[in-house]
Amino acid sequence: MFASFRLRFWRIAAVAAALALGCWAGALARSAALSRPASTVPENGVALPAVMYHGLLRDPGLQGTYVIDPALFESDLVYLREHGYTPVHIADLLAWADGAGQLPEKPILLTFDDGAYNNYVYAFPLAQRYGMKIIVSPIGCWADRYSETGEENAAYSTLTWERMREMLGSGLVELQNHTYNLHSAENGRLGSGRREGESEEAYAAVLREDLGRMQERMEAELGAPASCFVYPFGSIGEGEEAIVKSLGFRCTLTCDSRISYITRDASSLFGIGRRLRPPDCSSEEFFGSYLPE
Ligand SMILES: [Zn+2]
Repeated sequence: MFASFRLRFWRIAAVAAALALGCWAGALARSAALSRPASTVPENGVALPAVMYHGLLRDPGLQGTYVIDPALFESDLVYLREHGYTPVHIADLLAWADGAGQLPEKPILLTFDDGAYNNYVYAFPLAQRYGMKIIVSPIGCWADRYSETGEENAAYSTLTWERMREMLGSGLVELQNHTYNLHSAENGRLGSGRREGESEEAYAAVLREDLGRMQERMEAELGAPASCFVYPFGSIGEGEEAIVKSLGFRCTLTCDSRISYITRDASSLFGIGRRLRPPDCSSEEFFGSYLPE
């Protein structure tokens, strides 16, 4: 059972890798259909860069598009500190949009998709060392699976709910919804995307069941449901954003490789773009080509 699950984990990772480029192109093609932060700077708009990480591992043989060296992540944190950026949580954005809080001068989101256990091993201690906030988005069924077995392996397992509670308690880690069990490219559906020919009602029922189940699991295990939905593979089905909003989410994160501009209109927190952090370039190269001058 474990062996087949491991295979499944890596097969999904491979599918994700194969979809990497398609993710950007597809997301761009769909962008016109979504309400999203303006690509030009709106009045009183705040630039919000967002970085998308997945796994961190020291073994170069295990590194790739979705797994980078922890030293590179640390180098990113040093770069951001030296350039005056302050990583924030979605809660900070919501408080600001609601008029109940301020944002730092140069906010940025540091996001980790899929909830790999190695986030606890490498990203969490670095977040603590530098006092910087990160956002981790686990997949519910994997969290349940590894919470049941208790297995912890940086190379392939995911975070247990217990580890997530520990990270949450630091105040530096925020946890968001990345579906309960829709993180695959199987069954005619890419992530939480809509199947060909699927009716709006049937699609809404699927999202309500799966995303709602993850919200219930997060509330039960972590004390509160997520405020933000993170689209698996950046795949956004026709009508999905409206359904996600109807489920109570106040923010969505995509794979659009761009900087978003947010305002105190809370609707600007939907469709926030993120840039994937590749394994093969320095912090100077990565941020130099992404962050505003
Ligand atoms: Zn993912």
